[in-house]
Amino acid sequence: MQSYDIVTFGEPLQRLERPTPTPTGTEVLLRVTAAGVCHSDLHILDGYFDLGGGNRLSMAERGMKLPHTLGHETVGEVVAAGPGAAGVAPGSRYLVYPWIGCGDCGVCRAGEEQLCLAPRFLGIQSAGGYADHIVVPHPRYLLDVADLPAGEAAPYACSGLTTYGALRKVGPAIERDAVVIIGAGGLGLMALQIHRAMDGHRAIAIDIDPAKRDAAMRAGAFAAIDGAAPDAVAQIKAAAGGQVWAAIDLVGSEATVRLALDSLTKGGKLIVVGLFGGAITLPLPLLPQRALTLQGSYVGSLGELHELLALVRRRKIPSIPIHERPLGEANGAIEALRAGTVVGRTVLRG
Ligand SMILES: [Zn+2]
Ligand SMILES: [Zn+2]
Repeated sequence: MQSYDIVTFGEPLQRLERPTPTPTGTEVLLRVTAAGVCHSDLHILDGYFDLGGGNRLSMAERGMKLPHTLGHETVGEVVAAGPGAAGVAPGSRYLVYPWIGCGDCGVCRAGEEQLCLAPRFLGIQSAGGYADHIVVPHPRYLLDVADLPAGEAAPYACSGLTTYGALRKVGPAIERDAVVIIGAGGLGLMALQIHRAMDGHRAIAIDIDPAKRDAAMRAGAFAAIDGAAPDAVAQIKAAAGGQVWAAIDLVGSEATVRLALDSLTKGGKLIVVGLFGGAITLPLPLLPQRALTLQGSYVGSLGELHELLALVRRRKIPSIPIHERPLGEANGAIEALRAGTVVGRTVLRG
């Protein structure tokens, strides 16, 4: 098999070859047909996440061993299954749930494997989908997508699930109040589609790029506002009908978190999803005096991915724009994402 791996942090991926694994136990071997290119792949390739103030979260210090195969938005077709992997037929097409935990701890048993402290996420701690084959440890992580195009289904494993998980945290207010969605790249467009399918009242998209604001309007945003405008907060409040109860920050920079906090009304909630990086200082009395909720959201559970696919089918959620490129262009796809020129999602095709 071949894969495109991080061999040295900060350097382009390298094409490596190794024997195609034989699945054992409950493992399933898939031939990869689609692998989404996610923004967090850039940070992993760089080898760190920026924590602000000159501090970094280092992948090497977190135990990442190289070479490493990226890719956590994977669709593939079953090639072979171990003797303990029941119910998967060769040739069947599946979306892979990549946020796999230890399976033993409290959060795993509660169905929140994405929050496990001993993760073995595909594409993060285990080999991912930037390859022609992938091994999945158990059939329970395979979701049938026979009825969906592979390139459209792949991004639901991360960008879809991440936005769905964040939108669920808005709670019942989603049907009566505006939700501010900061960032109209791949995640933002996905969030707008899912927000509408969840009967969301009004989505206000924020992006500094006019092309992305146009894409947001086409994707159903009620308004699209330039977050760098001097009167951005006033524009956001006006578009929300006066008061902003919920904001989802898909960027996660110092500027976007501050914009969101400045826009929220008393009792409002900010859900931070993006991993752009940085740090903020927050006057602590504001938290109680404004009764603010500041919450992080990290991908979503296996159950939520099943819910999301059911929602996609029931509400016929249209796909975000998908740009397909051959697996051999993995480095070009990453650089295009880094340059910020991608509207929608890039998917590598096997
Ligand atoms: Zn991702
Ligand atoms: Zn666990």
